[in-house]
Amino acid sequence: MSSSSPQRLILATRNAHKVGELRAILAEADLGFELVGADAYPEVPEVKETGVTFAENALLKAHALARATGLPAIADDSGLCVDVLGGAPGIFSARWSGRHGDFVRPGDSNVDRANLELLLAQLADIAEEHRSAHFACAAALALPDGTERVVEGRMPGTLRHEPSGDGGFGYDPILQPEGETRTAAELSPEEKNAISHRGRAFRALVPVLREVLD
Ligand code: IMP
Repeated sequence: MSSSSPQRLILATRNAHKVGELRAILAEADLGFELVGADAYPEVPEVKETGVTFAENALLKAHALARATGLPAIADDSGLCVDVLGGAPGIFSARWSGRHGDFVRPGDSNVDRANLELLLAQLADIAEEHRSAHFACAAALALPDGTERVVEGRMPGTLRHEPSGDGGFGYDPILQPEGETRTAAELSPEEKNAISHRGRAFRALVPVLREVLD
């Protein structure tokens, strides 16, 4: 980067944990961007996730934020995809147990618990060898001029019959990542970031940022 003040990049989330995670990945890549969360722009309205794929929803959020702020914007969308359910809950992961129109606060642990319990009940009779699933994350970059890129990351694993572990959020207590004996909720944040769908998608975004923004 040639300018003296770092270029601002905005991340379309009010989740401080996600901002911190991406900030660490960008710092490691030494790209020289200043990353700010959507909290810094409270006047920008929330975007309706009307897409039918993670990539579509991530792009919708990134474009809306880039248009509203005039800055390059990054957005992510993620969820759990269960093979025997044909990829569900997928884009409906955050409100799997809710009725249409329910208001779901991101990170609400009661909703997370209800989602997880419904899923376990639906899969109660499904044997070990058919309990494969993965977390998926699409990370999108949009520029105010309409330029767009999207990359994806996955964390494959198997679904347990009972939740285990207090870390993480969402469906973490029931997903045992491939090659692990613990659930995602029993990994340290560093261990999870190293193999997670979001960590992988954000790291895949680094060369894209270099190419598009440098
Ligand atoms: P979001 O798009 O990151 O807000 O995620 C949507 C939903 O997918 C969350 O509410 C969780 O139910 C689920 N999810 C996404 N990522 C994870 C994860 O890393 N662990 C557990 N659940 C996740």
